[in-house]
Amino acid sequence: MSSQVRLRFAPSPTGPLHMGGVRTALYNYLFAKKHGGKFILRIEDTDQNRFVPGAEEYIKESLAWCGIEFDEGVDGKGEYGPYRQSERKALYSEYAQQLIKSGWAYYAFDTAEELNILRENAEKMGEVFTYNSQSRANLNNGLNLSKEEVDAKLAAGEAFVVRFKMPENELVAFTDLIRGEVRVKTEMLDDKVLFKSDGMPTYHLANIVDDHLMEISHVIRGEEWLPSAPLHVLLYKAFEWQAPAFAHLPIILKPIGKGKLSKRDGDKMGFPVFPIQWNDPNSEEVFAGYREDGYFPEAFINLLALLGWNPGTEQEIFSMEELIHAFSLERVGKAGAKFDPEKAKWFNQHYLRTKSNQELAKLFQAELKEKHIAIESEKLEDLVDLIKERAVFVSDFWDQSYFFFQAPVEFNTKVAKKRWKENTPQIISDLMQHFSNAETWEEHYLHDIAAQYIEKNELGFGAVMNALRLAIVGDGIGPDLFKIIEFIGKEDALKRLNFALKVL
Ligand code: GLU
Repeated sequence: MSSQVRLRFAPSPTGPLHMGGVRTALYNYLFAKKHGGKFILRIEDTDQNRFVPGAEEYIKESLAWCGIEFDEGVDGKGEYGPYRQSERKALYSEYAQQLIKSGWAYYAFDTAEELNILRENAEKMGEVFTYNSQSRANLNNGLNLSKEEVDAKLAAGEAFVVRFKMPENELVAFTDLIRGEVRVKTEMLDDKVLFKSDGMPTYHLANIVDDHLMEISHVIRGEEWLPSAPLHVLLYKAFEWQAPAFAHLPIILKPIGKGKLSKRDGDKMGFPVFPIQWNDPNSEEVFAGYREDGYFPEAFINLLALLGWNPGTEQEIFSMEELIHAFSLERVGKAGAKFDPEKAKWFNQHYLRTKSNQELAKLFQAELKEKHIAIESEKLEDLVDLIKERAVFVSDFWDQSYFFFQAPVEFNTKVAKKRWKENTPQIISDLMQHFSNAETWEEHYLHDIAAQYIEKNELGFGAVMNALRLAIVGDGIGPDLFKIIEFIGKEDALKRLNFALKVL
């Protein structure tokens, strides 16, 4: 192993990347950057049966959206390539051979049918069949056949697999940087398949060979890979290679705090589980993504960072730079991390407020364009400034501001009942009169006109304003009323008041 810090994210392109997968990528990235190391994207596509078209592109697009850039990987950067395992196919066989030679692996010729029968028979007796140090003595493999028999089978082109020969009665121990000392007895482990006669390695062999050849120093991955770690530690021993350091991340739990957050939970519970939208090419189902649901990548990254890691302080808002600085594996917990969709929104609201009016107006402009509403950028920036405090997403802007663009066609009856009194029509038509004489159409000036009228007639300011708002907006909502009146302009304002007098 080189002394350099080199981490990899090694997804299999078997579907969309779950947010837990993005968190794994993020922690690898943060650790690598913190230690001045390299972050590598390797695609583990040895299982051709589970290959899903578009999944690799999806993974790359997701990472790019999140701002998790790789230094080496499938896009041609780096000197340890190729970084797609299917393109490395030719090199694994030699390593499988090496293990057979040194007695750490053996050929097995048991057919799928034969193994199925063994499985079914075991099941009938309430047991589970495993290919392990007990059962292998009675099975169709190189441990029980002579060298000539094995060679003959291979020469005849019989299908085979290469299995790892799990040592008997040993204790495998290693230190996990999050979990501490992990000890497993080899009796608990089976003889995993490492290589198949179609020339493809399985995950276990390819993963170890590549981590070694790519000089990976730290393996940070999900808890679901912890059961594979003892085998991996033994594979390093078998090859006489130094193993990388391991760290297995806690699972992400459903909002109720129980059970793993699964791919289906999002649509069931109304929040995304995927970074970007996924259109399943097989089922044609569409799975929601954070990006399309209006989350900012900064918010997504921030919330992911805190799902399993804590800074040890009260700080909750972290930029990527701050995360790189603050991150450490010592502060990653062992226990599952509960996902809180409300907190996710809270993060987005925070980042929305930190955006400039200019940036937000641009985003809103796109939505308005779809509604065929044209408005100058500067004017829209002023508007965005008025409403952004009330929004979690840019998509909330419309609900907070539609009345700037559209005159009411009806009035909220509940509000009308409360705010529209017997003397209201008189007040509104008086105000209309004053407004139509206004010399300039400017909020403070209009405010003063109304205030003077109210004072002169000894009316309640609040009551008049509520009625005026109802007439202008159609409801009891919205930001500063005179800002709205200025924004919509004299002609529209007077028209709205007129309409309210007719209808209410
Ligand atoms: N290809 C594995 C996955 O899909 C990689 C696991 C590992 O990091 O070792 O997650």
